[in-house]
Amino acid sequence: MTSADPSPARPWALLAELTHACPLHCGYCSNPLELTRRSHELTTDQWTDVMRQAGELGVVHTHLSGGEPLLRRDLEQIVTAAEAAGIYTQLVTSGVGLDQARLDALASAGLRSVQLSVQHADPRASDRIGGRRSFAEKERAAQLVRAVGLPLGLNVVLHRENLDAIDTIVELGVSWGADRVELANVQFYGWGLLNRAALLPTREQLAGARDAVERWRKRLNTGPELVWVVPDYFDGVAKPCMGGWGAVSLTVTPDGTVLPCPAAAALPGLDPPNIRDRPLDWIWEHSAAFTRYRGTDWMADPCRSCARRDEDFGGCRCQAYALTGDAARTDPACRFSPDHGVIRVPADEGADATAPVRRRVPGRSEGAATWV
Ligand code: SF4
Ligand code: SF4
Repeated sequence: MTSADPSPARPWALLAELTHACPLHCGYCSNPLELTRRSHELTTDQWTDVMRQAGELGVVHTHLSGGEPLLRRDLEQIVTAAEAAGIYTQLVTSGVGLDQARLDALASAGLRSVQLSVQHADPRASDRIGGRRSFAEKERAAQLVRAVGLPLGLNVVLHRENLDAIDTIVELGVSWGADRVELANVQFYGWGLLNRAALLPTREQLAGARDAVERWRKRLNTGPELVWVVPDYFDGVAKPCMGGWGAVSLTVTPDGTVLPCPAAAALPGLDPPNIRDRPLDWIWEHSAAFTRYRGTDWMADPCRSCARRDEDFGGCRCQAYALTGDAARTDPACRFSPDHGVIRVPADEGADATAPVRRRVPGRSEGAATWV
């Protein structure tokens, strides 16, 4: 598809960021530094209508995410709306606040699966990274999910503090009965970019972690499935971000802004559309936010003349903007990018063990960024 195509393919995936509020305050959080206030969040009726419109547009899968989506007291109603629209729902949660009654209500509403974040296999390290005592609640949440019979995935964001613990993390996934363990090397957006100096691993750590994943893949005959999300800072290879800009997926943020990816609000000139003002199909087909970088016509060299342009779509527009000031440049993660040095140099230098981790203040998950 090129940007000249009159009818873009329909999206199949919706990331529904129901709230930015969260009981945890991980230093790698990809939420924006300017968090949406709770008073500005979409109402139950508005989320219900988002699900209806998304189903009509072709969406078949939604991640109910945040922040912590369990903080929405109407989460069951939102799940019901998604189910009515024919959309498969996956809850993306820290596990904090998931008790038996809540899970039963969500399962009754039609929830199909749960993805639980874990920061480390060691409880004290997990609590330290998440900035709150929460490991025991995660363990309990995993037990509940298994008992109710829903598929369980663990999501572990990997960085300097936990990359050496792959063995115990996989063992944790096995003992908790996970169907899937997603080992996601940290992506540097939002708070993650702010804390990059503290989070960057060494190349040796990454190589060791990769070897450990390969060993476990050979050893595990039955589940969990191990997913290794590539560390684009270190591979010299741009990731096919969101499966292409405005190609398969859309994000609705807590205040109703609709974007091709969660980090895109920061890009200049997109005039981010809002579901309160425009229908979803118009936003998908006609808004500047979705058409600006759709397809390949917007590309300049080296992407324009590159054989991989239909595979990685030139990488991530938000990373290009964050690191070069120009969203239309080749993602600096790519070794062919003239800006590759802005990534290679910090990747070669590795983490600064003395760098402070700046966090969202616990319990103050709205309003302007504050760090401690
Ligand atoms: S603070 Fe942690 S648990 Fe909360 S949204 Fe951010 S990454 Fe997820
Ligand atoms: S030059 Fe562009 S299209 Fe080619 S590999 Fe790099 S990011 Fe991908």
